[in-house]
Amino acid sequence: MALRVALGLPKWTPNIVLMKIAGQEVLSEKIKRLAAQFLIRQLANGVHSPIYDQNCKPSIKLIKRDEVMLANLVTELDTSTDHIIAFPDTLISRSNFCEIFLSNFSFQNKAHPAFLIKDLFEEVVYKEIQDYHIIATDASKSHSFTSIAGISNLQSFVYRIHPINSIFTAEALAICQALDELSVIDKNLLLLTDSYSVLQALKCLTIKSPKVIHRLAGKILVRKNFHQKISLVWTPGHSLIHWNEKADLRAKTVTESHPLLEWIAYEDIISRYQTISLQNTNHSFQNSKYQESIGDIPAMLALTPWLKNRREDIIIARLLTRMIITPALLHRFGLYNNPRCQICNRDNNIEHIILFCSKYSNHRSILCAKLNFDLQLCSSLKVFFFKTSFQISGILGFFFNL
Ligand SMILES: [Zn+2]
Repeated sequence: MALRVALGLPKWTPNIVLMKIAGQEVLSEKIKRLAAQFLIRQLANGVHSPIYDQNCKPSIKLIKRDEVMLANLVTELDTSTDHIIAFPDTLISRSNFCEIFLSNFSFQNKAHPAFLIKDLFEEVVYKEIQDYHIIATDASKSHSFTSIAGISNLQSFVYRIHPINSIFTAEALAICQALDELSVIDKNLLLLTDSYSVLQALKCLTIKSPKVIHRLAGKILVRKNFHQKISLVWTPGHSLIHWNEKADLRAKTVTESHPLLEWIAYEDIISRYQTISLQNTNHSFQNSKYQESIGDIPAMLALTPWLKNRREDIIIARLLTRMIITPALLHRFGLYNNPRCQICNRDNNIEHIILFCSKYSNHRSILCAKLNFDLQLCSSLKVFFFKTSFQISGILGFFFNL
């Protein structure tokens, strides 16, 4: 009901069509999804969640239904609750716990050609940061694997990680793993990554930052307790800096035989659920009779940049769902006695008005000129929208001129 009001669609708009144009999930599915999200978020909040104790065991008893749902979710994801990346036990408040370089150095400029970035990088390493232990990390996501890799001049690692993880999570996990595996005790560490967004997130750490960033901050703090200085440096991707090239190559050449790190980010689970939920809306529309008769409909939100006001919103929403008031539509619901066009003696529906009715031939030629498109090529509104890729500004003009 709220969606109908918001979109200005009449009450007889079919639910499936309404959900599709609103880009919304079926409500019962949404409620289930939000409940699942809540439980998984509590897991990710770890010891800071009111419903889990120190050992991540529920400190309150979940009702049977929730318990089963949570168990099913975790099984579906092919993981276990212990592998969801949680807040570290001690939360780090934002402070200068490490140095993060995003744009301080001359080589940190994507506009430079690759060979120049490489030369400038080598110059900086030679002049300013020679006494650091250098580590480079990278992540890769392909059709078959999501992987992370790290190298130093002493060691390296490659792991597969859970495919649900985003590239952002993977890049952050790679740095976490490098701190664990590739650090040397008596030297300061210089970590190279091509993930600007991870470093940016770390720099702006707040309680709302992704859990994996908190995890990374926690790992850095541990090193700091060993009196090691840690610097994180952004390097432009694919810039021939040999450290990054090597890490990149290692991450990409991952195979089934590489060990699996089972960490999984709560944020990525959630965004996956949202995607699946919207896909369900799309599928039920595609499998309905409406897809056949009215063709695909974009979500209203995707069109709003081209719409100026609520009046336009409503016209377009009604037009796309074929719910614009016409004699034929009113007749269908018993509200009008003559469904036929008095001039052409055809069904007086919106398709007839826009594409065929002789009464509107002048309006139609204006529309053709505006769209630079021949309406006679269209046998139906479905074809019209498809061929003009939903160019709605022209069609709005048609209505305002009527
Ligand atoms: Zn007519």
